[in-house]
Amino acid sequence: MIATTITHIADMKIDVNGTEHVVDLKITDIPRDERRQTGRAYVWLNDKLSAQLGTPPDDFTSAAWRRYHRAMIKLMNEVLQGTWNHDVPLVASFSRTAGCSCGCSPGFRLPNQHVDIYVSVK
Ligand SMILES: [Zn+2]
Repeated sequence: MIATTITHIADMKIDVNGTEHVVDLKITDIPRDERRQTGRAYVWLNDKLSAQLGTPPDDFTSAAWRRYHRAMIKLMNEVLQGTWNHDVPLVASFSRTAGCSCGCSPGFRLPNQHVDIYVSVK
């Protein structure tokens, strides 16, 4: 996987629901060996932000788990949007198979972007 880093900000301060968080932001070209035309975004929450979601329910088939999962995606998207300082809004739709067809790398599809974005909350 060969990708060129366009931007790397090691300590970016972002606002998430009125609270400041520090993230590591990397924006790269789409790897040359991948034929896709649209970008992807991956967000890693830290323990402090994950704690806002409460304890994940054990039963992955339950309505409670779906609620938990929806809230997690919303929070990840808020973190992602917090890094986006452009006039044009970042369109991002969650996909379980964003990074791999087996589901090991869930993330967001970025239909209007030709870059991949990696956000890790510190
Ligand atoms: Zn996989």
